[in-house]
Amino acid sequence: MDNQNEARQRVEELSVLLRKYSKEYYELDAPTVSDIEYDRLFKELQELEAKYPELKTSDSPTQKVGSSSERKFTQIKHKSRLYSLDNTYSYEDLVQWYERLKKNYGLENPPALVCELKIDGLAVSLIYENSKFILGATRGDGVIGENITNNLRTIKTIPDKLKNQISELEVRGEVFMPKTAFEKLNEKQREQNGKLFANPRNAAAGSLRQLDASVTESRELSMFSYYGRLDSKEFNIESHSQMLDFLKSEGFNVNPAYKKCSNIEEAIEYCKYWDTKRSELDYATDGVVIKIDSFLLQSEMGYTARAPRWATAFKFPPEEMSTIVKNIEVNVGRSGAVTPVAILDPVYISGSTVQRATLHNFDEIKRLNINIGDRVLIKKAAEIIPKVICVTEHAQHKESSFAPPEFCPSCGTKLVETEGEVNLYCPNHLGCPEQIKGRIEYWVSKDCMDIDGLGDNIVAQLVDREIVKTPADLYKVTVDDLLTLDLIAEKSAQNLYSVIQASKNPSLARFINSLGIRHVGKETSELLASRFVSLDALKNAAFEDILDIEGIGDKIALSILDFFSNSYNNEVLKELDEYGVKPRNSEIVSGSDKLKGLTFVITGTLSDTRDKFAGLIKQNGGKVSSSVSKKTSYVLAGENPGSKYDKAQSLGVKIINENEFRQLIGE
Ligand SMILES: [Zn+2]
Repeated sequence: MDNQNEARQRVEELSVLLRKYSKEYYELDAPTVSDIEYDRLFKELQELEAKYPELKTSDSPTQKVGSSSERKFTQIKHKSRLYSLDNTYSYEDLVQWYERLKKNYGLENPPALVCELKIDGLAVSLIYENSKFILGATRGDGVIGENITNNLRTIKTIPDKLKNQISELEVRGEVFMPKTAFEKLNEKQREQNGKLFANPRNAAAGSLRQLDASVTESRELSMFSYYGRLDSKEFNIESHSQMLDFLKSEGFNVNPAYKKCSNIEEAIEYCKYWDTKRSELDYATDGVVIKIDSFLLQSEMGYTARAPRWATAFKFPPEEMSTIVKNIEVNVGRSGAVTPVAILDPVYISGSTVQRATLHNFDEIKRLNINIGDRVLIKKAAEIIPKVICVTEHAQHKESSFAPPEFCPSCGTKLVETEGEVNLYCPNHLGCPEQIKGRIEYWVSKDCMDIDGLGDNIVAQLVDREIVKTPADLYKVTVDDLLTLDLIAEKSAQNLYSVIQASKNPSLARFINSLGIRHVGKETSELLASRFVSLDALKNAAFEDILDIEGIGDKIALSILDFFSNSYNNEVLKELDEYGVKPRNSEIVSGSDKLKGLTFVITGTLSDTRDKFAGLIKQNGGKVSSSVSKKTSYVLAGENPGSKYDKAQSLGVKIINENEFRQLIGE
């Protein structure tokens, strides 16, 4: 941007956007953009102001920490300022930060660090005088916060009284809502037609800033403490890690995952570990806070205008990124559902490059008001197809607005609407190439027949060349057929042929799942397989027999009956049988009531999946729960157990390992 007028315009735009986002975040508890998007715009503004100092105003968003709050509560000035942390987004940045500190402060030995999970909640400050909790406030803009003492008193993990006699102590922590409590709360809100919260952070913020403290009390909030400031020197606390231990001994809830690291390499290992494990935690975390451990070094390094030099926040690779919509395409799924897909400027999110994101249906396009050329925010959660969250900037030159198609883009058949559903459908189930591809891709996928090596590209070629029309056709494909495809060498054709032939005898559950019966997924398939044992028994099952299974309702039962009464499906099943594709009958597992009346919670890594252990518990008459309470009989804990382990300890719930569990069920 060379032209000053252009720069002025952009500075104004950015200021308006940043103020809006800041207000949404700090005052409305309802951010509409991710932190990374906010940081991107903030940095752009900073750079422009550096280049054109005359454009910098005293009320520019770059000159403020956060934003002042709406006056719902009385305001109080913090005893000492609550700084933000500088963010780092890459391991190289972390190494640079560390090396710079070493160089600037002439440190010959690598200084020790403390790594802590950065909890995605609300920062608060608590003041204790004469060992009693007397004042609690939100972070606010770092200088002035809101007095929410009464609300904080309702949080059980905030002690009212300290254990030692202490004249003055300030504790800071992050108030958060566990994911399980968040889901329960939204469930309740939905029942009562109340406001739904977008995420646990918003729910925690909304719950904490209630004028009626009894509402806060009903919301299952918790707090992790991560900072303490003592006026007296009598406890001889010389480092951050000692302070955390001290806070724990005074009755505060300190996140058990914190770790003292002797150098930056160890800290990076910590970040890598938690980047992959964070989804298993019952609270949201968006990064790792890394601090120099020694208080002496901390005071030597001091603060910049915004943040301490001795700490940095490493942000996990974002699950949200901003990019441009290049095109909107229409996808035809295996059931004929026609869905719009946004084609994106490639963007790197959570370890992979994303180029497509689902838009779900044509109503969603209207709701998002999305068009080609718009800048959008993309979200990717673990193993879920990326989706478009919102439009952040509309394109200047709008192309004609996107209209739903009338005809199937794959086979040209006129699309139909199904009553009560938002999707459009292609009714040409047997002849539509995209639907056939979708069914074959599903058939060979991991949870179905698990035919490794039969990728989408090969499936597409087999369908386009009309070698394969149904799953049964796969089993008559010859090595010669495979050799006619592009990019297949003799050896891999041989391999692929063998893999297909070797897949002919799956478990009954897999086979049922592979059929792609509407509303029947992996779990329902397992239920059906263990109840009916053989495919023939399932085919001949009566409506009442299916409905009799716990967890299966009318909709699923009807869909199963429909599937097996369809002549085309029966034709395919007959062919599969003729080609020797025969599911193995289920083993009859005899149940026991050894665990009758007992409730289990499973945590950590065991020798097999948690589902497997949950299955064993249920087979033996026990129950499985997702959260630990006093009613929990046992916590079955594997390697690296999470917060459930600590909770069990604090409640005195018996914790057992896998061997002890196997003894319980008599294995
Ligand atoms: Zn079609």
